[in-house]
Amino acid sequence: MENKLRDVLIVRLGEVTIKGKKSRDRFEKKLIENIKEALRLSGLQGEVKREYGRIYVYSTQEAIKVLRRVFGITSISSAVEFEFETLGEIVEVAYQLFCDKVKGKTFAVKARRTGTHSFTSMDIAREVGGRLYPCSRGVDLENPEFTVYIEVRGNKAYLFQDVVKAYGGLPVGVEGRVVALVSGGFDSIVAAWYMLKRGAEVHFVFCNMAGELTERLVASVVKMLVDNWGYGYSPKLYVADFRPLVKELRKKVDPGLLGVVLKRYMYRTAEHVARKINALGIVTGESLGQVSSQTLENLYSSSTAVSLPVYRPLIGMDKEEIIARAREIGTYEASARVKEVCGVYSVHPRTRSRLEEVLREEDKIDKTVFEGVVSSLREIELRTLGIQAESLDEVEISTIDPDSIVIDLRPPEKYRESHVPGSINIDFAELPVALDKLDPNKKYIFICDEGGLSREAAYTLRKLGYKAWSFKGGYRALSRKLDGLSS
Ligand code: ATP
Ligand code: MG
Repeated sequence: MENKLRDVLIVRLGEVTIKGKKSRDRFEKKLIENIKEALRLSGLQGEVKREYGRIYVYSTQEAIKVLRRVFGITSISSAVEFEFETLGEIVEVAYQLFCDKVKGKTFAVKARRTGTHSFTSMDIAREVGGRLYPCSRGVDLENPEFTVYIEVRGNKAYLFQDVVKAYGGLPVGVEGRVVALVSGGFDSIVAAWYMLKRGAEVHFVFCNMAGELTERLVASVVKMLVDNWGYGYSPKLYVADFRPLVKELRKKVDPGLLGVVLKRYMYRTAEHVARKINALGIVTGESLGQVSSQTLENLYSSSTAVSLPVYRPLIGMDKEEIIARAREIGTYEASARVKEVCGVYSVHPRTRSRLEEVLREEDKIDKTVFEGVVSSLREIELRTLGIQAESLDEVEISTIDPDSIVIDLRPPEKYRESHVPGSINIDFAELPVALDKLDPNKKYIFICDEGGLSREAAYTLRKLGYKAWSFKGGYRALSRKLDGLSS
């Protein structure tokens, strides 16, 4: 008897299967839709078939990597499928497939069965085990070096040797929509990942305090996240120009409370987008106590700005865990390229704000400035967005050439504390105004706290034809260097 063997990927569903009939039906349909999109976006072909509690994907081995990133799937096995009439045929196929593989190894056979047959799963295990025994080093049911899995479903048998774990969760989209505030940094991206994992359709809001280069870097991280994990919808990135607001805040608000007031406006921007697209929550990458803005007091003061719930999937996670997750999901490198725009924060942010004070500070703000921020919102379609690899190598340097002019973009109080001898202090926000004082024939090196704003400044000036660079890693890296030299 000729058995027709066919390669198949067995896709197992986790929580999806414990739902009631109606939700289960909806979840499985969505999962199949997401699987198809995942394959298509990865340039793979494949037929997807649904059977009660199972999904079968007929595609190549490469698809395993893709399927691991589709939420709602708990594990995948690459199997051989065939139709059989007798147990003897299953035994023979198992022998053909696994005799070589169990050579010199201990092995076990794990069999399962659904349907009506003249044999039990114990019979399958015993017969296949007996046939493979002479090929092997013996049977070890406790700790086998090789496991033969056999699953019989009706008149079909599936034989495989591995179970590849996936991430579980729920199919993206089944839990409705949220808006994630993203800075492009490690935390906010990982937070959005967790919401995708639980089946939320995540859209993104970036409050841009720097400029075009930063926006492009942030967009590329977010795109990387959704192209690898966010299948089954059309993810959007909303970008708001926060520069006028930052300027206003720095002019009028107590520097110690600026961070909290700024955060309130970010939440409001997210809420505005959420209302527009019918999203039911705001997501952030905050984790309790991680930085001054993330104390219970400051999180409370920030939260009262909006009435939508704020979800913080990382609240109980340590930085190390978050970083490890960022590496695992593949966004670490891209996030590392997005530098913090610290220039807006004060030297001594208050860790324990009181809401009344925060509100009093916020009252000083010209409300039309925020209206301007809202009307600056632009929608970017992430799926079709073309990403140019940004070469930062040209713009970033790590030495200061003596015949260049150093422009320090940090707040004046930090500049006064210490600076590069001979450097001049220009506020980042004032840069456009200061431009006509710059000489196109001279070389300029920008420096800021961590190298984010300076990179943006150098990038902008270059586009205007100036010779400009950014000091890599900012003042922080420079101080470390100087410390190293003097010790
Ligand atoms: P991340 O690693 O996500 O940048 P962080 O550790 O730098 O976070 P904060 O700067 O306090 O911490 O930001 C906390 C959260 O606020 C971020 O995770 C993000 O959700 C939101 N957020 C911060 N900056 C921005 C921004 N420029 N645009 C949109 N959201 C932001
Ligand atoms: Mg950040």
